[in-house]
Amino acid sequence: MSLADDLQTHYEQQTVAKQCGTGVWFASQSERDANAFAEFLARGGAVSHLHQLAVKNGCPIAETQFRRHCRKRCSCYRLENAA
Ligand SMILES: [Zn+2]
Repeated sequence: MSLADDLQTHYEQQTVAKQCGTGVWFASQSERDANAFAEFLARGGAVSHLHQLAVKNGCPIAETQFRRHCRKRCSCYRLENAA
């Protein structure tokens, strides 16, 4: 294995991962819920509060990962930027 092989494997794994758990969960929600989520963040709402409400509505994601998605630092957005 060379460095190039390792990096190739890394990119392939990223492609397979596609969305983070939070992204997958939001994709399974209604369009109305997804829009409400985006609007809440756009208005400067607290991520911790949003996470509480998401959990109440069945979101299985831990707050740390949820926060990463809200700050666009998860695999969902890395893939978008790379494209
Ligand atoms: Zn995400």
